[in-house]
Amino acid sequence: MKGVISLKRIFKTGVALALSLSLLSSQLIWAGVNTAEAAGKKVKNVIMMIPDGMSVDGTTLARWYNGGQPLAMDEMACGLVRTYSSDAAIADSAPAGSAFATGYKSHTGYVATLPEVANMPGLRPITEEDKNRPVATILEAAKLAGKATGVISTSETMHATPADFTAHSTSRKAYDDLSEQQVYNNVDVVLGAGWKFMDGNNRKDKTDLISVIKNKGYDYVTTPAALQASKSNKIWGLFAPEALAYEMDRDPAKEPSLAEMTGKAINVLSQDKDGFFLMVEGSKVDWAAHANDPVGVISDILAFDKAVKVALDFAKKDKNTVVIAVTDHGNGGLTIGDAGTTKTYDEEPLATFINPLKKAKLTGEGIESKLNADRSNIKEVMATYFGITDLTEAEIAAIKAAKPGSMNYAVGPIISKRAHIGWTTGGHTGEDVVLYVYAPNGVDRLTGVVENTDIAKYMEEVLGLSLTDATKKLFVDANAAFKAKGASVELKDSGNNNMVLVVKKGATTLELPINTNIARMGDKKVELSGVIVYNGGRTFVPQDAVSLIN
Ligand SMILES: [Zn+2]
Repeated sequence: MKGVISLKRIFKTGVALALSLSLLSSQLIWAGVNTAEAAGKKVKNVIMMIPDGMSVDGTTLARWYNGGQPLAMDEMACGLVRTYSSDAAIADSAPAGSAFATGYKSHTGYVATLPEVANMPGLRPITEEDKNRPVATILEAAKLAGKATGVISTSETMHATPADFTAHSTSRKAYDDLSEQQVYNNVDVVLGAGWKFMDGNNRKDKTDLISVIKNKGYDYVTTPAALQASKSNKIWGLFAPEALAYEMDRDPAKEPSLAEMTGKAINVLSQDKDGFFLMVEGSKVDWAAHANDPVGVISDILAFDKAVKVALDFAKKDKNTVVIAVTDHGNGGLTIGDAGTTKTYDEEPLATFINPLKKAKLTGEGIESKLNADRSNIKEVMATYFGITDLTEAEIAAIKAAKPGSMNYAVGPIISKRAHIGWTTGGHTGEDVVLYVYAPNGVDRLTGVVENTDIAKYMEEVLGLSLTDATKKLFVDANAAFKAKGASVELKDSGNNNMVLVVKKGATTLELPINTNIARMGDKKVELSGVIVYNGGRTFVPQDAVSLIN
């Protein structure tokens, strides 16, 4: 397989060295999908859609569940994507999404930041200079080019995948940092959930980010009605304290569907004459797969597919938009057929697999709210909402013992067993995943087996952007750059973990609060072209911050 692929691969080493001193612009020795064809087919807009953790059997299952007619994304299937990270065969969402966003493979937990180790076959080792270095995302590059930008997720907006396009950290768990960077990164439309993490009372820095959003001129909305009614070109919509509900469990008066959010974002962003970049994540396909809950998987794959239809319909009309849909990695090892069908697999009617799933009215997560506090109504709830009337004592005990928030981990396996849906793990899996692309001319497609990092390169090509140039503009090593100008640099805590980089030269003092795009000089406040990132060792600032010191 490797031999076949490398026939088409080209060395870009010389070009890379000429373009960049330390920042490696071609991480893979043998990588390189031929994007030359794409280069001649520029478009104004890209909509990148990620059904997180969607294994291909989940897609097949969702299609059968839906009666077998094609999914919206089916006509876009064009290739396979390798999902491994810089030092592991099975990817975590943070580096897997970062690969799409930045063109670099990275380490577990890393958000749009280069790893310390790149040792998977074919990867160039990371230089000392590049370790833990933030790198520009396609969203940030699009923004520099004057395009409108948006991110949508059904998880909290600071969760790994949306963060991968809008923030930078060596830890996906650093919600305080990630959400603050998102707020100051001037994304035009942000839709999803997680207002709890924006509330000053719940943050170490005590900063109320919702007030910041409002002060920055966003229309802050919390209901589907307010979202639809908004006339603003800057919208920040958070519809739940943490994640949104699965589509099957969703209250349409309280939370919009992924398709609704996608439609609204496209309406707003497409007003920009320079075009737009939009990332849409169906976040909870992954969560259901972790729980081995096939109902949650189906629920949110179908919801994702409806959002794809909205994007595809727009793109076909617009004729200037590329739509890419691809998961970041497999999850759960879901199979249609399990150990119970070893001898009968080719005799089982479709109903064997689908009928038990069709009886479910809620996902494994949705069931939880129907149970009494003392869980005395397990049998009734499972009969009413899951159509299961033959629970074993062990299954009842498992439901009773389920911790709050993890009921899907208890009931997922129970319904899987009855539907003969197999699972091999509660974690991610390392297989290649299906790539779905729509491009206006129908020919400039990513075909064959490509790397997840090739998706970023393809987007760069069709949008006419340079991620390497964007990184050089947005992430300059502050210490080196200011010292070269004869200034002193000091990182200070201004209280409540609010770190500020203080730069002094002669009578001039420049203050650069970490995670913001603000520069202060005396009474003067300047908005920078990107956010200030502290990676735990070094601080990186946009070039325009460096230019403020003469
Ligand atoms: Zn993921």
